[in-house]
Amino acid sequence: MTTTNHNNKPFTWLGVFGHPDDETSASAGTMVKWIEAGNEVYIVTATGGEEGTLGTGGQVIERENLGSVREAELRENLSMYGANPPFLLRYRDQDLDKEDPHILSLKVLDIIHLVEPDIIVTFGPSGISNHPDHIAIHKATILAFEAYRETTQIREKPILMFPSIPQDLAQEFGLDLSDEEKRLDIIVDITSSIDMKVKGLRNYQSQEDAQELASRFSEQEQHRESFAVSELTTANWEKSNLVRYLNNL
Ligand SMILES: [Zn+2]
Repeated sequence: MTTTNHNNKPFTWLGVFGHPDDETSASAGTMVKWIEAGNEVYIVTATGGEEGTLGTGGQVIERENLGSVREAELRENLSMYGANPPFLLRYRDQDLDKEDPHILSLKVLDIIHLVEPDIIVTFGPSGISNHPDHIAIHKATILAFEAYRETTQIREKPILMFPSIPQDLAQEFGLDLSDEEKRLDIIVDITSSIDMKVKGLRNYQSQEDAQELASRFSEQEQHRESFAVSELTTANWEKSNLVRYLNNL
């Protein structure tokens, strides 16, 4: 069951990621429930994912067209979830760590000011897979978050959190996570939205790893997404209504 948001104003979720599909593998189940409860979702996607795989299941995409194919996949999925259209930063895949982190952070900061999120979700320090683009967007989002917190009057928000993975699963998949990314501060039961998450991953038809994740997620017995709250978030985040809200979503 999805907990309805009884606030007058919807809560706003801002996901900040490296490639089209990161948002879905990290958080589609939670986003779908969040939206069903009457809240807003915005996604920032920093690169076009131009270096990804060139199609699955017999589909063959020219390298020069992959960016636009993946943009279309991203737009279709966000629309299916009921999220807003994405903010695209238009970097090239695998070039994100070549950008000055402060410049990248200013682009993220502009969007934070625009949407005034209650929650910001980005990769943690390892980027889950140690992908340089994931780590670069993590660092830039941290800088943007710190800059925003210095200017905003509302001290308790936003909450900054990272997708996290339980220790045993991280080991099973050979992931080299930071300790922070193994913490399960927020656990969302996504049984009611797992079908949408798997459908979203399958819609990333150009990407082999999205197809593999779709199969893996659909075979799991328990459907959950978990998040670690960043230590940069206000010290008493555990008492925050929003954290309680998410844990009951
Ligand atoms: Zn990625």
